Amino acid sequence: MNNKLKALGIDFDVHFSSKRKMGNGEYMGRVNYQECLIEIDKTATEQQQQEAFLHELLHILNTELELKLEEDTIHRLSYGLHCILRDNPQFFNITIN
Ligand SMILES: [Zn+2]
Repeated sequence: MNNKLKALGIDFDVHFSSKRKMGNGEYMGRVNYQECLIEIDKTATEQQQQEAFLHELLHILNTELELKLEEDTIHRLSYGLHCILRDNPQFFNITIN
């Protein structure tokens, strides 16, 4: 699968990888800026992968916009955003129509 994400002008590849390949059993996702790569643990549940993806996007925003958010804040935001987006699949239609 070849997925791309454009975030604030940076083109990232999104890979779904095994935890072993990601090199750390603790995390379900990580961003590699050198390679413009977002990796998500493919063995996690679909919901966990979605939340991990949002989490890594927030890390990108945190870095690029110099927000200086702590890891715990990023964790809480990704959890909250995921809940809202999951419960409102029509989210982007709310403002368009
Ligand atoms: Zn994190």
